Amino acid sequence: MQTALVTGASRGIGAAIARGLASDGYRVAINYHTNQTAAETLCQELQQLTNLPHLAVRADVSDRSQAEAMFAAVGNVDVLVNNAGIAQQKLFTDLTEEDWDHMFAVDVKGVFHCCQLALPHMIRQKDGVIVNISSMWGQVGASCEVHYSAAKAAVIGLTKSLAKELGPSHIRVNCIAPGVIETDMNALLGVETLECLREETPLEILGTPAHIADAVRFLVSSRASFITGQVLGVNGGMII
Ligand code: NAP
Repeated sequence: MQTALVTGASRGIGAAIARGLASDGYRVAINYHTNQTAAETLCQELQQLTNLPHLAVRADVSDRSQAEAMFAAVGNVDVLVNNAGIAQQKLFTDLTEEDWDHMFAVDVKGVFHCCQLALPHMIRQKDGVIVNISSMWGQVGASCEVHYSAAKAAVIGLTKSLAKELGPSHIRVNCIAPGVIETDMNALLGVETLECLREETPLEILGTPAHIADAVRFLVSSRASFITGQVLGVNGGMII
């Protein structure tokens, strides 16, 4: 039985990824930060569906000691999905140093911590898959989201470099750059803005967490065994 750790899996995209990987036969570690009830409810649901010993595990991924405790609780991780993330909309001129540092702590340093902690086992077994969740804004930049866009661009750079370094160990590292996905993260945008974004999307729909989960399931699977260091846009054609 292989273990997949999905960070930020209490809700939204991470919860859909956890569901998908559980139905593909993985024992899933559902990481959460604050939403313990949601993570534990999801864990019970998946246990009933699959009869596998999934677990919900708390950690703020930006904190090294909490990330270490999480890996100690989970054990060896064969598939790591770095999904946990925060977003914030603010004029660049209004950003504080704390805003900048917090964004990079969660969205970049969290990925660094979890990759480093997952790798000893993956390198030992010369096998493993990492999928990082970036954003289309990391590819093209978003107004009023400079720190978010810069952090998500860093995740793309991290993915490409790590894929080169880990290729000889047969560990694949890829990245997904979602477009606009209907989750809590976008709820603050309001109905009108979301409708404009839908109209701007060539496929004329907003994405769902399941769209991203399907892409993760593909990248994790043996069907993607010759794919590493890539950025897969899952955005309805918004960024081409
Ligand atoms: P969401 O609904 O806001 O959920 C965020 C998840 O991340 C929650 O499970 C939350 O845990 C967790 N989290 C936040 N800070 C954390 C921390 N310090 N340590 C551990 N977990 C933490 O977000 P989402 O829309 O599903 O986004 C998931 C990922 O996709 C993010 O990386 C985001 O940047 C990326 N993305 C989203 C969109 C979109 O349109 N939604 C587009 C592009 C990229 P708790 O609930 O337990 O606090």
